[in-house]
Amino acid sequence: MAETEKVIIIGSGPAGLTAGIYTARAMLSPLLLAGSAMGGQLMTTTDVENFPGFPEGILGPELMQRMLQQAERFGTRILYEDAVRVNLREHPFTVETSAGNVFRCLALIIATGASPRRLGLPSEEKFFGRGVSTCATCDGWFYRDKVVCVIGGGDSAMEEALYLTHHASKVYVIHRRDQLRASKIMQERAFKNPKIEFIWNTVVTEILGDQTVTGVRLKNVKTGEESELPLDGVFLAIGHEPNTKLFEGQLELDERGYIVVDRYQRTSVPGVFAAGDCHDHTFRQAVTAAGFGCAAAIMAERWLGELEDKGYEALKADYAFAAK
Ligand code: NDP
Repeated sequence: MAETEKVIIIGSGPAGLTAGIYTARAMLSPLLLAGSAMGGQLMTTTDVENFPGFPEGILGPELMQRMLQQAERFGTRILYEDAVRVNLREHPFTVETSAGNVFRCLALIIATGASPRRLGLPSEEKFFGRGVSTCATCDGWFYRDKVVCVIGGGDSAMEEALYLTHHASKVYVIHRRDQLRASKIMQERAFKNPKIEFIWNTVVTEILGDQTVTGVRLKNVKTGEESELPLDGVFLAIGHEPNTKLFEGQLELDERGYIVVDRYQRTSVPGVFAAGDCHDHTFRQAVTAAGFGCAAAIMAERWLGELEDKGYEALKADYAFAAK
């Protein structure tokens, strides 16, 4: 086994890379497990127009590439491997990767993010990336003057539907209830848009097509009535799942699987910090994730300083994790 690392960061979205920048500048020589797909959810977006410092906007992948370069510039070591197992019950903690490497560390920053939720239909898998998408800003362009649907009733669904009206000729919003979860302002915008039509109390039971998507099979959950709706593309906006399976049984998670943190980004295990969408289901912005990554890094630095003075057992005894 390799020498014990001071700090390991798992994840390479805005939270992980910002933690990399800060811990590297604190001379902690962080090891960052970027995963097989670096960059997180911003890699599947186009223009990012709300990240401060880029008045003209910046492409999501370019922003992530820049953050990566900045983290590397100060000495963050990037490894393109996924964390597949952790042991947080013993200190130093252990992290095992997809390539079979086993690392030990004195502090761990988890920034594993979240992934768009899927319906779980076999036909959804078949057409994923070929007519089924979780990102209107990435794929909306392909549906110029075509008919699409958005599944979901939250703010994401409204945002996706509104965005798609710039391209598509018609946008159906298919929602399983007769009331939206979305905020009033987003609801109003969607209701006002003449290209958007709502289909209530309805679920999609199958995505139809041969080479490409040609329609969806629908079921009304109130009447049980089934029908088919011809269309060209399906956009899923049914929420996100935090990427936290790895930590089940070792860290306190909430009922939806998000990591519970206190206001210092501390988790239920002393020495383990979390940042970004793996704990935050409220803001979910690149800039807030970066902020959480910064806070986690500063806390990890303080933790390591105290660890050197006191030792793990004494520090653990002092530890006052009090989630909000
Ligand atoms: P939400 O969890 O708010 O909404 C998910 C929607 O998908 C719900 O309407 C839910 O139905 C529906 N849904 C969930 N699972 C299924 C399923 N298996 N089949 C069919 N429908 C399903 O997620 P969002 O991503 O919309 O939003 C997450 C957070 O991000 C929220 O806090 C939101 O306010 C915020 N956000 C804010 C934006 C903004 O302000 N511009 C933009 C985007 C997100 P049901 O209602 O029945 O549970």
